[in-house]
Amino acid sequence: MRLILLGPPGAGKGTQAQRLVETYGIPQLSTGDMLRAAVAAKTPVGLKAKAVMDAGELVSDAIVNAIVAERIDQPDCASGFILDGYPRTLPQADAVEAMLAERRIALDAVVELVVDDKALVGRIVKRAEDAKAAGQPVRKDDNPEVFEERLREYYKKTAPLTGYYYAKGLLKTVDGMTPIDAVTKQIGERLKSASRALA
Ligand code: AMP
Repeated sequence: MRLILLGPPGAGKGTQAQRLVETYGIPQLSTGDMLRAAVAAKTPVGLKAKAVMDAGELVSDAIVNAIVAERIDQPDCASGFILDGYPRTLPQADAVEAMLAERRIALDAVVELVVDDKALVGRIVKRAEDAKAAGQPVRKDDNPEVFEERLREYYKKTAPLTGYYYAKGLLKTVDGMTPIDAVTKQIGERLKSASRALA
């Protein structure tokens, strides 16, 4: 199963990706997590990405495309993967297509989590509070000011991907305003219909 999770920051992509990891036994490839690891390790990519991420803007397509191309060749991706937070621009979507075609594999579905903007900022603030309470590091970009920029970037650059994948017949839209378990259930149902259509 090769999936993309689409949706604005705070839509619940990470939470749902973790559940899909358990259900399908395939890894979650979060470009945000990979970039944060690069920043923490002060690699050349991390040093380039840090200021851009702190400002809530998007890291260059070339950087993220290269990270993902390398990651999908790891053995744990052989039977599939969940792309979480990637692609985020139309050039990235074209890059995915080229990467998969080169490896003679295809996407099974693109799941879009639809959530009201007003709910998103509250979720981000809660994520920061939960991390703090658990003694975990709080993401620098999980605050209302940077969040506004992240949301602007989403509408400008990422939202057009829904049309791109709709046109390819891959888009599965899910109501992300329902409780976490209900979202998981909806995704399961949408993916069942996707695999039936493929059979
Ligand atoms: P996330 O954890 O997915 O919210 O990503 C956190 C930040 O990492 C984003 O605000 C961007 O600065 C950067 N980032 C993650 N994924 C991408 C991507 N696919 N393209 C560009 N920048 C990304």
